[in-house]
Amino acid sequence: MPHLVIAGGGFAGFWGALSAVRQVAELGRRPELRITLVNRDAYHGIRPRFYESEIASARAPLEHWLTPLGIRLVVGEIHKGQAVSRHLHLADGRVIGYDALILATGSHLSAPDVFGAGGVFDVDTYAGAGALDRHLRTLADGGFPTQASRTVAVIGAGLTGLEVATALPGRLRALAPESPGFTVHLIDRAPEIGLGYERKARHYIRDRLRRLGVVVHAGQEVVRHEGCRLVLEGGAVVPAATIILATGLRASPLASAVSGPRDALGRLAVDGFLRLPEHPEVLAAGDVSWARTEANRSALMSCQHAIPQGKFAGHNAVNFLFGRDLVPYAQPRYNTCLDLGPGDALATVGWERRLKSIGPDAKALKTEILTRWIHPPVALDEALALAWPPLDRRSGAPDLAG
Ligand SMILES: Cc1cc2nc3c(=O)[nH]c(=O)nc-3n(C[C@H](O)[C@H](O)[C@H](O)COP(=O)(O)OP(=O)(O)OC[C@H]3O[C@@H](n4cnc5c(N)ncnc54)[C@H](O)[C@@H]3O)c2cc1C
Repeated sequence: MPHLVIAGGGFAGFWGALSAVRQVAELGRRPELRITLVNRDAYHGIRPRFYESEIASARAPLEHWLTPLGIRLVVGEIHKGQAVSRHLHLADGRVIGYDALILATGSHLSAPDVFGAGGVFDVDTYAGAGALDRHLRTLADGGFPTQASRTVAVIGAGLTGLEVATALPGRLRALAPESPGFTVHLIDRAPEIGLGYERKARHYIRDRLRRLGVVVHAGQEVVRHEGCRLVLEGGAVVPAATIILATGLRASPLASAVSGPRDALGRLAVDGFLRLPEHPEVLAAGDVSWARTEANRSALMSCQHAIPQGKFAGHNAVNFLFGRDLVPYAQPRYNTCLDLGPGDALATVGWERRLKSIGPDAKALKTEILTRWIHPPVALDEALALAWPPLDRRSGAPDLAG
């Protein structure tokens, strides 16, 4: 009996697994396929929510969906070296053979060497976000006694850095309403904040940062990190007891162990069906995959791309195993919705990121995305109904934005 293994239970892996179940049932061959999903823990993590202060509901137990669908969950760390050898090797010595593999192990924070010594926080993982929360609460319990304790530096002003920086003023005040002022610094080597957005959107983001009192250091690199002190290029010093890295993502190390072309983020080049050119039995989806969208753009490291890619990969893995035609990955739209703190967000359309809405309207959209669109439905039949590549518009799957 063929064995489909899915490495990773994030957006691409989760939806890959459900899409595979749906497609093999569609072919009437469900009893003939074994499906296993391997993840380093038992949860489906909703990473775009990890910048929030309450993250308990930002992950969901994979067993809830996998067990009733007959998908075996293996919890374990996949060893880096041998992903495309028709066997996955786990760090604890277990070996899992496969006939087709969906590689969906995502990405991790790419931290500049200057922060090598530790003592910094991130919102990249559930554990990282939890550590940041505990640290802020410890400072609050101590009464935020010094200026440094009341200062947070966010490094990196991409989407994640902006969401963290604009959430922090409100989050800190909620922890200690009586405390004298907090300061949030946002530091980025790019000459301007909001690059990648069209002009109006860029202005709105900068204006929002100003209204929140976030101190922006654009065109500034951190050249030294000494405990609670950051030294910027040019000599400025930022004393901050809380330093949060939002310095970009890099593809999972498992991708680096596979031969073949990759991009600057370490993502593996895939063909139009999301297969590795040298290993047609291996598909890569989500942040490990360097896929082209219809507009001939590279898909981004985003759940907006990872979710549909997972659905195409699951569908195509089953069709590969049962000798059916594969379906080319297609994703016509690209929208974003950036959280800008309490009561505010900014939604854009198109690859030029043209301003669509701001303020409460955009915030309502962001809340909808975070709480509904990117969360798998709890009801199995609803989740399965969505687990279909967006090629079939009858599925009613929403166009994702995030
Ligand atoms: C703070 C933050 C905010 C974001 N905001 C947005 C947003 O607003 N909109 C948007 O579209 N995107 C956003 N993103 C990006 C988005 O979260 C990622 O693009 C998305 O998670 C990629 O999905 P994935 O399935 O490829 O990888 P992941 O979601 O990272 O899932 C990978 C899975 O593989 C597992 N895994 C990894 N390595 C191993 C191993 N060696 N062994 C076993 N298991 C392993 C992990 O535990 C995880 O479950 C945000 C990311 C962050 C961190």
